[in-house]
Amino acid sequence: MCGVIGIIGPEEIGGRGVSCAAAYDAYRGLLALQHRGQDAAGILSYDNVSRMFAMEKDLGLVANVFSQQKIEKLNGYMAIGHTRYATAGSDGKRDIQPMVEGIPFGLGMVHNGNTLNYYSLKNQLSDDFRRQLLTGNDLEVLIHYFGHFLMNGQPMPTESTFSFENIKQAAGQMFDTVIGGYAVLGLMAGQGLVAFRDPKGIRPLALGVRENEDGTKVWILASETIAMTYLGYKYLRDVEPGEVIYIDTKGNFQSAIVRKDPERAQCFFEWVYFSGAESAIDHHPVYGVRLKFGERLGMKARAAIEAAEICPDVVMPVPDTSRTAAISVADSLKLPYREGLIKNRYVARSFILSNQDKRDHAVELKLSPIVGEIEGKSIFLVDDSIVRGTTSKRIVSLLKKYGAKEVTLGITCPPIRHPCFYGIDFPDSADLLAHDKTAEQLAEFIGVKKVIYLDEEDMRAAIGIQKLCMACVDKKYPTAVAEGELYSRERKKARAAS
Ligand code: SF4
Repeated sequence: MCGVIGIIGPEEIGGRGVSCAAAYDAYRGLLALQHRGQDAAGILSYDNVSRMFAMEKDLGLVANVFSQQKIEKLNGYMAIGHTRYATAGSDGKRDIQPMVEGIPFGLGMVHNGNTLNYYSLKNQLSDDFRRQLLTGNDLEVLIHYFGHFLMNGQPMPTESTFSFENIKQAAGQMFDTVIGGYAVLGLMAGQGLVAFRDPKGIRPLALGVRENEDGTKVWILASETIAMTYLGYKYLRDVEPGEVIYIDTKGNFQSAIVRKDPERAQCFFEWVYFSGAESAIDHHPVYGVRLKFGERLGMKARAAIEAAEICPDVVMPVPDTSRTAAISVADSLKLPYREGLIKNRYVARSFILSNQDKRDHAVELKLSPIVGEIEGKSIFLVDDSIVRGTTSKRIVSLLKKYGAKEVTLGITCPPIRHPCFYGIDFPDSADLLAHDKTAEQLAEFIGVKKVIYLDEEDMRAAIGIQKLCMACVDKKYPTAVAEGELYSRERKKARAAS
């Protein structure tokens, strides 16, 4: 999971009179998207006056990567930015986005997602096109292919021969070639900003605009609407699956759906966990959906109470994502809502390393108990998901250590049983706690009285969309996945070695 943002507008965006205004908006947008990835961040801008790209990127949080001095060097009226959660390639500096290639035009890109047929495409690049890759990130492969398709075996398109037709045809070939879930933003030197989203719409991408007083428009594309509203842009709509958008340097907006796939497969986990509560996906607000998750979980909890299986005194969230649903569970059960665990905001993400021992330790570093709210209580604990299960087990043991009489665990998602190949770090089936366990076995492992899950129909009804990707739950992958399994194995090896 990563966050992407792209901005293009008139020379002085919003009349601010600063030449780095596009990069500045990209920077502030990345701050709003920080929850989508904390491993690294970067911004690429293009300046039409000097005809040069400028780029800053590094490992770490957005606020640590950029300073005012660095932003001021990112001149130009168009910029793209990225905040990274590494699920492909290495975790090191080599694989940070954005990435740039010199031909054709000069092409810079960022993306959110994964290319499942990365190894085949990489081999083809080297064997047939004689290209040497310099990184282990699939984005580099996407840049090479998009550039190749733009040229379409012809001499370089010139100012007069280049048009949206070239971009549509290149995007169509990308959709036919690249298997996976991806939302891509690109800067084409001296030309404009291009955006496209995989034909199933697995990864999100939204479009917005801000009108200046002089009638000119500044366009924004971002993984989440929170990045738009925060910056004063108006959210217009989501980019359609299989759609390509091109906004040229004169501000002309063009779009086309070049591959229409009736089987849309938006990732349901965006509403469960990834997206910020302030965002909306396809105009379905994340906060409102999480309230509905809570209502449905409340109905299931009520049935367990009526069957005398559980007898909770309070409803308590695992902070922060589950808070919204927990409020709704408490309302529907007419039980008090209590905060018993407080998240320490000052524990850096960098404390959470890949190996399991460090993960265990991280739970205690991150959550502090309010003993008075825990002691002697029978707690209905609400969490968004169980992946490896270690975090849930640690939290329950923390609650018991501070005197909880009994804990029931309510999960606002069905059991995660299968790996994700589309840019989410759900590991091998073998690492997923629910993969081979019943709800009873899970409860025993985690140390709770009962685990209550939402089911797939609850998710579809609460989200209000029937066609969703839920492959990590039902194993119905929206694309071929044979190569994705190889990709995951390689990724696991790389992580173990790092
Ligand atoms: S497999 Fe799961 S996490 Fe991955 S894209 Fe599909 S729904 Fe989202």
